[in-house]
Amino acid sequence: MTTAGAARPAGAALERYEAVIGIEVHCQLRTESKMFCSCSTAYDGARPNSHVCPVCLGLPGALPVMNRRAVELVLATGAAIGASTPDATRWDRKNYFYPDLPKGYQISQYDLPLAAAGTLTFDTSEGPFTVRITRAHLEEDTAKLVHAEGPAGERISLVDFNRSGVPLMEVVSEPDVRTAEQARRYAEELQLLLRTIGASDADMEHGQLRVEANVSLRRRGTEAFGTRVEVKNMNSFRSVEHAVAFEIERQAAILDGGESLRMETRGWSDERGETYHMRSKETSDDYRYFPEPDLPPLRVDAAWLASIRGELPELPAAHRTRYRDALGLSAYDAAVLVADADAGRLFEATLAAAPGLEAKPVANWVTGDYLRIRNAAAGPVRVDPAELAALVRLVADGSLNRTSARQVLEAHAQSGEGVEAIVGRLGLRQISDTAALGAIVEDVLAANPAAVADVRAGKAQAIGFLVGQVMKATRGQANATVAQAAIRERLDAGERA
Ligand SMILES: [Zn+2]
Repeated sequence: MTTAGAARPAGAALERYEAVIGIEVHCQLRTESKMFCSCSTAYDGARPNSHVCPVCLGLPGALPVMNRRAVELVLATGAAIGASTPDATRWDRKNYFYPDLPKGYQISQYDLPLAAAGTLTFDTSEGPFTVRITRAHLEEDTAKLVHAEGPAGERISLVDFNRSGVPLMEVVSEPDVRTAEQARRYAEELQLLLRTIGASDADMEHGQLRVEANVSLRRRGTEAFGTRVEVKNMNSFRSVEHAVAFEIERQAAILDGGESLRMETRGWSDERGETYHMRSKETSDDYRYFPEPDLPPLRVDAAWLASIRGELPELPAAHRTRYRDALGLSAYDAAVLVADADAGRLFEATLAAAPGLEAKPVANWVTGDYLRIRNAAAGPVRVDPAELAALVRLVADGSLNRTSARQVLEAHAQSGEGVEAIVGRLGLRQISDTAALGAIVEDVLAANPAAVADVRAGKAQAIGFLVGQVMKATRGQANATVAQAAIRERLDAGERA
């Protein structure tokens, strides 16, 4: 079965080999116009070749004009990853021939990227992990090739230039990633960071975030790098993890068989759960880079950089640390609330609606039951922050048990009815008053002498049965903890008598 490769953990190969993985990410920047012309970037769903001009069509004599906003978004990314930015940089021509590149060169940055030497830290199942980022530079996107069938049934390729010239940021990591999970988490954290600072919508399914992994293996204990294979066409975070895990196993099997790997580019097939050969890479490509003569050098003065730094919002890593340290949230809850903007908003609004309310139970309700209800719902779900706060209070003061509270939250999310009203209508208020439970406990003990004898004989589980009987007698409204304490108290008093 070919799909087994996708699900198989890379653990076996990683006992003998160390994976060395570098990740390149291309992301479309969130600007209104293209990188070097005023064509709109809002071409999603538009007619092919309807968002074009002489510049992005690469017509002779057309001159590029730099999009300042795109530069600012790369500078903001650099500031967010702690990278350094040169005082002056320039644009370079990367020369190659391909039908999606009408000029025959791409305007890019070669040796003076806008951001160099940063880091990205994220949580993994094995704890926090830091990946060094070599560089982030700015370039223009290519056109899109559409392969179709012609009028006579022949295979034809069409070019849509709507995407041509859209600002693209390339982020290149050092080969620090060692596992498939780290590769996925790196891409997820980069997406979260780019969305947080507003640099990109970074939607993988829409091609706004394209991830490529350079994977090689070396025997544990050795230093030299092995032969590198580039993996592309990963259209989701799951695909990134599966493709890298598959590639580690594939390379290990070849090396175990005494063969050597070849330098190549491989694609990932979600359907087959495996990587496949796309093209060989016998030599490194020679792009004959040279400075772009049609654009002036770019100066990044300190004041400009400082104002971009000053406008950065709270970054995801700092946000998670604040939730853990200042609010006492678990690492899991902090990660979910920072990564899921909707859940994060509900959490913040609930705390704001009820000053003094403890943050931890609110976080638990949001990351647990709220997300479960929201993710299972067919349409949009609305939970009123003040009502969620009321629910948390009722559970905290013992008026509502967790099972009932879940039921109340579901009812509120469906209808918008107030929490107190639902509790009253369904008769869910918990009986926590010892005096009120006293008579019921007496009845249960009198009706179940065998269980009482078992408890007295030291059979601890028998008390659970008695608590169950109290719950039954109160139609689930008794506070189980209070009921159990009341039962113990009566039995102890009986023993002393
Ligand atoms: Zn244009």
